[in-house]
Amino acid sequence: MSQVNKIKKSWMEYLGIGHKGGLQADRADSGEAVTAEFTSEDVLESPAPAKVEEDAYKECDSCKKSFLTSEIKSNFYVCPNCGYHFNISAKRRLKLLVDKGTFRQFKYPEVSENPLDFPEYEDKLQAQRGKTGLDEALIAGVAEVDGHELVVAVLTSRFLMGSMGVAVGERIAYAVECAEKLKLPLLIFSASGGARMQEGIMSLMQMAKTSAAIERFNQKGGLYISYLTHPTTGGVSASFAFLGDIMLAEPKALIGFAGPRVIEQTIRQKLPEGFQRSEYLLEHGFIDRIVERKEMRNVISQLLKLHGM
Ligand SMILES: [Zn+2]
Repeated sequence: MSQVNKIKKSWMEYLGIGHKGGLQADRADSGEAVTAEFTSEDVLESPAPAKVEEDAYKECDSCKKSFLTSEIKSNFYVCPNCGYHFNISAKRRLKLLVDKGTFRQFKYPEVSENPLDFPEYEDKLQAQRGKTGLDEALIAGVAEVDGHELVVAVLTSRFLMGSMGVAVGERIAYAVECAEKLKLPLLIFSASGGARMQEGIMSLMQMAKTSAAIERFNQKGGLYISYLTHPTTGGVSASFAFLGDIMLAEPKALIGFAGPRVIEQTIRQKLPEGFQRSEYLLEHGFIDRIVERKEMRNVISQLLKLHGM
């Protein structure tokens, strides 16, 4: 197949022509009922495939003090000395957040693995899958937090820097659509380096798709809580991550579009201290509240309760 035809095929798939996954938003408009499908496996309880021995001690990346790994674990993976929030996996975050045994993962729509036939991309995906035990950079499903049911999606920076390609975009759109149809609140945790390079323009299109899905959800009166974690950048911050009705962030998370070095080179000015960190964004009105991880579950539960969800 020629390169032009391949791109054309990808576009057709993206638009849902001759493809069963398709553009989810189209189905929402057609009035066809979305029957949220779930996988049967309890993903949060299944062990990671490449289980590595954990060190007894762990050094804090910020203050450089060492602690017993068990001590850090019992402190929600936060440094007991300086409050540094360690990077946690998507499954770990879900375990810390949801009521035990309530998470049901969506059976996501199928999408092209390698829409532009980018060299060595499939091998890279396979390697990431083996390493992380995830099939993509996002897990989404329905769960309960303190008895409140919601749709929750978690991006992880551990899988190709949480970059958004067609699969991630489609999963976000699907999660939003399910929240709309099931009349549930929506919570998305972002952690991303931005668009997925290997999917070129297809990955940029996900910004429009996810934003449109959120807007539709918004018009139907849905509640969307966006929770930004370290790092939330690029095309993810420039689309669904910043469209929350309520914007939360973890302490000291890097949040922005382009990195500080690129901005400094472009505007030829020194950037202020703490630029693009949660605290700076809170001060400048982009974020409603910074939530420490040990408060995460409690804050989400309270917000859902306040909104009568
Ligand atoms: Zn520390």
